[in-house]
Amino acid sequence: MFGEEKRTQIGRTLQEKGVNGPCEKCGHNQFTVLDGYFTYTPQYDLTSVNVGGPNIPTVGVACENCGHISLFAAKRIVPQDF
Ligand SMILES: [Zn+2]
Repeated sequence: MFGEEKRTQIGRTLQEKGVNGPCEKCGHNQFTVLDGYFTYTPQYDLTSVNVGGPNIPTVGVACENCGHISLFAAKRIVPQDF
């Protein structure tokens, strides 16, 4: 689990990078930094599913009104974790 300090730092970093607009789906202005990393797994073949290979770690925020989730490459938001 991320602690409260890490989630606050992620939110601060996003703000410093200019990620401070309203929700793209509903226009609400309050977000929650999600706990943990999320991954995108690249697929190189449309006839099978690659699991456990290379992945793109992300951190996420969710709109507190509609729940829309936005993900950001972790290397740009928490580079100290790599
Ligand atoms: Zn929303």
